[in-house]
Amino acid sequence: MAKLTFYGATEGVTGSAYLLETESATILLECGLIQGRHEEEKANYEPFPFNVNKLDAVVLSHAHLDHSGRLPKLVADGYDGPVYMTYPTCELLEIMFKDAASLQRRDTEWENKRRRRAGKPEIDPIYTIDDVEIALQASVGVNYGHSREIADGIEVCFRDAGHILGSSIVEIFISEQGVRKKLVFSGDLGNSYAALLRDPDTIKDADVVLMESTYGDRNHRPMDETLDEFESIIEEASKNGGNILIPSFAVGRTQEIIFRLGELYQKGKLRHQAVYLDSPMAIAVTEVYHRFQDVFSVEDVSTLRKGKTGSLHTFLPVLRYTSSTEESMALNMIAEGAIIIAGSGMCNGGRIRHHLKHNLWRRNAHVVIVGYQAIGTPGRALVDGADTFHLGQEEIAVKATIHTLGGFSAHASQSQLLDWVSNFNEPHPRLYLVHGESDAKVVLKEQLSQQGWSAEIPRPGEQIAF
Ligand SMILES: [Zn+2]
Repeated sequence: MAKLTFYGATEGVTGSAYLLETESATILLECGLIQGRHEEEKANYEPFPFNVNKLDAVVLSHAHLDHSGRLPKLVADGYDGPVYMTYPTCELLEIMFKDAASLQRRDTEWENKRRRRAGKPEIDPIYTIDDVEIALQASVGVNYGHSREIADGIEVCFRDAGHILGSSIVEIFISEQGVRKKLVFSGDLGNSYAALLRDPDTIKDADVVLMESTYGDRNHRPMDETLDEFESIIEEASKNGGNILIPSFAVGRTQEIIFRLGELYQKGKLRHQAVYLDSPMAIAVTEVYHRFQDVFSVEDVSTLRKGKTGSLHTFLPVLRYTSSTEESMALNMIAEGAIIIAGSGMCNGGRIRHHLKHNLWRRNAHVVIVGYQAIGTPGRALVDGADTFHLGQEEIAVKATIHTLGGFSAHASQSQLLDWVSNFNEPHPRLYLVHGESDAKVVLKEQLSQQGWSAEIPRPGEQIAF
């Protein structure tokens, strides 16, 4: 019998980690960072709840840090084996880990200054750039749809999850004493209405399925309504000369927005506005997307070809990269009627704050919110109608129009999750709901039971055998 232990993403959506043990091998599926409140994030400093030295291999579904971000810590704690993932995930991880390590170094220096003043002992970062380099060297790229033996009696195959570039549904085949079993982990499943990537692959057979349930309790706003609203905001800003600021996440959302702006450009609806991508990380990620267009949806690749060479750059020729800090600062002197895409996605850091300072007080400016805004973040305050925005010591009046566009989600909605799981043959595999807040999981479990599924919601540390 194989044993599977749920070590993360059981009571929330972060810190994904599942340990698979057979007679001959031990595999870690996912090694995600715990993200959330300060108290919860302290758990990232704790030792892993399993023997790191016993692991034969690690498998990652995609590059988002809640699925991958503790890998450098695993390496720092002694893991020295291979880490399997798709090729685009290898490239995205390099960008994300280096960014995460430099943020950690900065945060740790700040915290240690405070601790020295308070006479408290200093802390170490969760991991350093050296750990990141070692983790990246351990990365092994695998093509979608190719089975690969990763340990004695264990094969892995990555299927397209359509969530971000390189994201996968992980199939794990386990052979023990002449019996073959199959575990399927959905990873994060993509929204089939999102641009650029393909729909999640359908899988028909499995003994055990772990399915994400981020949007288990709701459906997204229809994409056509979202796109109509986006177009009308751009039209209005074009008439009154105001800037449009789009706080955006570097991976996935930014490239989708560039594609949608490209569609408007190609329709002749974006003639007077330049588009600035003002984020070194988002620029690097967009270049990785550019290199892996072979995994884009066939329909969107043919749409891109209207831009002749079929790249995001030719599809949206008014796109400009502003890499350096000087170029970014200069935008506020020269930009009028510009569209500025910058991080961070929830406005709690990054260059977007600088642009908010220069635009929020202007009545003709627009802020377009295209992603989820967690409670307590500055982005959420804007969505909730705050009159003022705090930037360090300065208070900025909010006179710009704040728009919230609900359709640009990178996750499958409730109905898409139900559709995906309905592809499994009868008798149904054992189904476990992971990666969701508890309300979302409870609602999804109820919906599934109406369709003849009895899904389980695993507890943290729960172990199953199959
Ligand atoms: Zn994800």
